[in-house]
Amino acid sequence: MRAVELNAPGHAPLTLWLRPLTGADEMALAGTGTAVAMTLLDRLAEGADHAGLTVSQIDRALAGIYDTLYGSRAECRVACEACGETYEFTLDLPQIIAEQDADRPGPPDADGAWTMEGVARVRAPKPADLVDDPDTLATRLTVEGGASAETVGAFLETAAPVLTLDLAACCPQCATSAQVRFDLASYLTRRLDSERPFLVREAHLIASRYGWSHGEIMALTRDDRRAYAGLIEAERARLSRRQTA
Ligand SMILES: [Zn+2]
Repeated sequence: MRAVELNAPGHAPLTLWLRPLTGADEMALAGTGTAVAMTLLDRLAEGADHAGLTVSQIDRALAGIYDTLYGSRAECRVACEACGETYEFTLDLPQIIAEQDADRPGPPDADGAWTMEGVARVRAPKPADLVDDPDTLATRLTVEGGASAETVGAFLETAAPVLTLDLAACCPQCATSAQVRFDLASYLTRRLDSERPFLVREAHLIASRYGWSHGEIMALTRDDRRAYAGLIEAERARLSRRQTA
């Protein structure tokens, strides 16, 4: 189990426990995007009551899952609109989270709301609050008083930061700048989705060598499955070298 802290340092601690990913989890994820990321979180935080989490806290949980699977770095690929060149840059997620936390206005009150510039009390959005219209969203998130949607939005961006980021990039070929959207939920699920062929191959290797059932293999954690598959591949390589010698 891995503990992921969902609140910023200095705020009331909120720890979510996540179990390791198994093949069954990977098989259950169909496609990519926010809904798939939520399914993943539901499965790994089994039994935890996380229905009341804010979007900001959910992104911290997803960052914890990402870190367990892939480490701290995320590679972004950009296709330059000016010259067509494709280039990459790297994000350091723990560093981004630390920067976000340093900018926060401090913890909310016991009811989860902040008093904003003395004119309104606002709370962080939960997934069910999200709507496209900024005025409707601001009204939903205002507990007391009132302020413009723009002011509420700007305050919550800092007070309850998310890991959907608009990043400035610059093409190394032609120096054209671009704004690139990074969305952790999409990024994480795309990466997992792209690894589906490995899951099938590893399951095939293990079933062929040990005769374990599909269910038994899918119940293995991802790390254990890969370790077994690695041993079988090494053994096969040794045998084939011996045969050709
Ligand atoms: Zn370019």
